[in-house]
Amino acid sequence: MTRRKFMLASGVMAGIAAVAPRVLGAEKPEKQGGTKLSRFGDVVVPQEHEGKEKHVPYIQAPAKVKAGEPFMVTVIVGKDVPHPNLIEHHIKWIQVYAKEEGERPVVHVGTFDLGPTYAQPNVTVPVILKKSSTLYAIEYCNIHGVWDNSVKVVVE
Ligand code: FE
Repeated sequence: MTRRKFMLASGVMAGIAAVAPRVLGAEKPEKQGGTKLSRFGDVVVPQEHEGKEKHVPYIQAPAKVKAGEPFMVTVIVGKDVPHPNLIEHHIKWIQVYAKEEGERPVVHVGTFDLGPTYAQPNVTVPVILKKSSTLYAIEYCNIHGVWDNSVKVVVE
């Protein structure tokens, strides 16, 4: 029996054929594993799911700013009702992004990695915009997941 005949008879080739499309990238990414790919936005908790513990980040920023001049953006999780700040339940990080009006992609402004009990989920970063933009804040609670919010800032 030739090596090829042996492999065909033993089913080794069938196994290779089944794996090959994934290895070669022939399978479309949105069909990985035969199911439709989930998007990260799908796991961001909707604001209306807010309970007695507050997770939606509050973004404090001027409604209007001057182009090219720095202004302060503060993001607070639990502004009116403080969120627990324990090792077993805390806000792990806060990120800020900006997206100019139009087709430009969102840009990363800052990431704040917070240590539980010592750091408060209340961060401030100076920001400079050239054009009117939407500022996004997202935060991660180690128990309740990822939450987001946004505000518009007009650049004059
Ligand atoms: Fe929480």
